[in-house]
Amino acid sequence: MKFDILTIFPDIFDSYFNETILKRAQSKKLVSIHIHDIRKATADKHHKVDDRPYGGGPGMVLKINPIYKTLKKIRQKKISKIILLDPAGKQFDHDRAKKYALLDQMTFICGRYEGIDARVEKIIDEKVSIGPYVLSGGELPAMVIIEAVSRLIPGVLGHKDSALDDSFSRGKDYVEFPQYTRPEKFNKWAVPKVLLSGDHKKIAKWREEQVKKAKSRRGKNV
Ligand code: SAM
Repeated sequence: MKFDILTIFPDIFDSYFNETILKRAQSKKLVSIHIHDIRKATADKHHKVDDRPYGGGPGMVLKINPIYKTLKKIRQKKISKIILLDPAGKQFDHDRAKKYALLDQMTFICGRYEGIDARVEKIIDEKVSIGPYVLSGGELPAMVIIEAVSRLIPGVLGHKDSALDDSFSRGKDYVEFPQYTRPEKFNKWAVPKVLLSGDHKKIAKWREEQVKKAKSRRGKNV
């Protein structure tokens, strides 16, 4: 999978994408991530990417020209999905991550300030939100989506079954059972005995019960 990201803050991504599973996914050539600095596509010597909104109002708006130009440059290669990160877009969730994981390439446009000149809608496929709240830019949402999608690409996770048990992998209501590790007792808190029993049938039953309990708690939003 190839990910292209259009941003005015290209350095934000360095540390995160060069650590953990995304670093491994890139070195195994399962994922490639390309950051495009929108500023480089500006014509003026100050590399101005924003301007005041027509009609007035507070803040600045990202201009369409440098975004269009950057997109055109990478469009020479294969593009299968162009996503505008937008708090009012379609809600990103596990089902959407599964669909994206089947694609060959995705492009993310990160907004900043008051957003992007609305004519950007003419050149995108989808507007996607990572939740009903407002962040200062699309960079964190792009990282969130790229990580969630990459985890579902075969070979990216260390253990092939890891993603199969994860929360939401078996439907919107499915939540993974609780996990414990050493020590057996910490302060007054002991690991449930059944997990130490070595009885795999009993363990599977206990885990099923925990999943059911977690589901009903989620239903009550607690
Ligand atoms: N004025 C815009 C509004 O009211 O919808 C908010 C702009 S926000 C400060 C700047 C940029 O951050 C947006 O253009 C978008 O790219 C990104 N962003 C903020 N919150 C987001 C979210 N929940 N999901 C996806 N992108 C988000």
